[in-house]
Amino acid sequence: MIQDIAPSTLNNAYRNNAVPEDDSCIVVYRNGKVLLNRKDEYIDFPRYRDLTIKDIKCLIYLFEISGIQFFFYDSEDVHVAGDYEYLEPWIFRTVKPSYMAYALVTARHICAWYAAERFCGQCGARMEHDAKERMMSCPECGNHVYPVISPAVIVGVTDGDRLLLTRYASRSGAPSALVAGFNEVGETIEETVVREVMEETGLNIRDIRYYKSQPWGITGGLLFGFWCRLDGSDAVTLNDGELGEAVWMTRQEIIDTVPHDDISLTREMIAVFSKGYDPYE
Ligand SMILES: [Zn+2]
Repeated sequence: MIQDIAPSTLNNAYRNNAVPEDDSCIVVYRNGKVLLNRKDEYIDFPRYRDLTIKDIKCLIYLFEISGIQFFFYDSEDVHVAGDYEYLEPWIFRTVKPSYMAYALVTARHICAWYAAERFCGQCGARMEHDAKERMMSCPECGNHVYPVISPAVIVGVTDGDRLLLTRYASRSGAPSALVAGFNEVGETIEETVVREVMEETGLNIRDIRYYKSQPWGITGGLLFGFWCRLDGSDAVTLNDGELGEAVWMTRQEIIDTVPHDDISLTREMIAVFSKGYDPYE
């Protein structure tokens, strides 16, 4: 999956006093696009030595991957020497090396939060960076804010040899997703599973089993993968308009029709099921 970057490792410890080195990667956005060098499928971020930075205070330490520090430059006022262009962050699915693709989505998560928290939501004063942890605080009213991580579920609904594949109404093509949705305030993550399956498909389920999780920084999420068994009728009712299609597919039908990539939890769950994985063994 996108987070599996071994032998590289992500060190997300907060270091407010980190100083950029010549080869530190600098993350710069403009109109939602990120500044990158792209040669074929390989990407690289601009390095600190390539940038003429007007305001050093706009540099915010993000994390370190395999000894390379990453900083967010929280300004569009930057000059870069070299072959860089602003690209859609969504290219993360198809680019290499894997640790740079993961840096791209993880930086996206943190930088979007920083960009949204420049000013206090309670009194409007400019927020300040905390010295010890990744937290912004308001010097006027004392408001504290931490990075927002939105939990969501990916649900593999099984019925013996069959898995429920879905296609969102906003997408075209054949069904290649699973039931999915965000946790709502006041519910457990298991209750999210039951509610999302019922809302999207009208199906009753039982025997919920946790599988794996995946940070999904491109949307600020943390995905929890669950398996469950159909309980009762297999007749799907598309209830809330989110899904365009939901169909039962056998393992062989999945192998024959669903494309595989090793980026997302959804695709991994579909792939392991198609190859015979039994969550209840
Ligand atoms: Zn305030």
